Amino acid sequence: MSGGFSVGFWGVRGSTPCEGSRYQRYGGHSSCVTLEAEGQSPVILDLGTGLRPYGESMNAASDAFHGSVLLTHLHWDHVQGLPFFTPLHCEGASLDVFGPRQEAGLSDVFTELMRPPFFPIRPEDLAGDVRFHDTGDDDFPLGQAKVRSRWVRHVGPTLGFRIDWNGASVAYIPDHGPGCCPEDPDDYVPHEVLELCDGVDLLVHDAQHTASEWGPKRHWGHCTADYAVHVARESGARRLALFHHDPGHGDDAIDVIKREANDFSARIGGPEVVAAYEGMCVTLDPHAPRS
Ligand SMILES: [Zn+2]
Ligand SMILES: [Zn+2]
Repeated sequence: MSGGFSVGFWGVRGSTPCEGSRYQRYGGHSSCVTLEAEGQSPVILDLGTGLRPYGESMNAASDAFHGSVLLTHLHWDHVQGLPFFTPLHCEGASLDVFGPRQEAGLSDVFTELMRPPFFPIRPEDLAGDVRFHDTGDDDFPLGQAKVRSRWVRHVGPTLGFRIDWNGASVAYIPDHGPGCCPEDPDDYVPHEVLELCDGVDLLVHDAQHTASEWGPKRHWGHCTADYAVHVARESGARRLALFHHDPGHGDDAIDVIKREANDFSARIGGPEVVAAYEGMCVTLDPHAPRS
């Protein structure tokens, strides 16, 4: 690949992992996406349970792992994979975690959720080195990648990210709840979100609820697939991946959500819509023809 990067989906589920025949095609692991460019350290988006199979995929690698994490927030479905990431069970490995600034400091707060009696070990007990970096509305480099982080509406401090790398771009906003701010109209898209998604090659966005589910759950911090399409259209995103699927939605339900989202997108002049599934890999090639 001469430029661009690949986007790998290891966990696409929101709220809690799930398992069973209803989830065979889209998968049951919680949020974890990887960005990889030739010859450069990987960037991991969130530490949900999908992080474990990503680690397993590298077990044959002989070199110590070095990578970065862009962590949106500290809800369970975004952090539970960390202790099971086997590359960190080796001396010399390192992981730099850029996550939402907390009053007590991200490192201390993370250690509160990963420590006895809730879990047998703390982050510092891993053989590899885990370093936490408090992040807010920032713009910073990760190797040759350019990262933009902005606060987004959810329950508790939550970031969305945009990564520009090798001539291609992705925005990642897995948890975004327009209903968290009752004063905002339901179709309002904040400036910060437009900034993250502006003309991006791929937008990975929350699509947890159907319209009928969202009403009573509007304060839960998520949105509908139609709202995700609306964000993609308003920001000029080139492709939309529906993400953070509700654990109550089996494969057939997600098929329907995807079909209806594509119909809606066609009606309003939005982009192509896919529903993210475990094992999906999207190559973002800056030389591909732009429509
Ligand atoms: Zn979540
Ligand atoms: Zn959340």
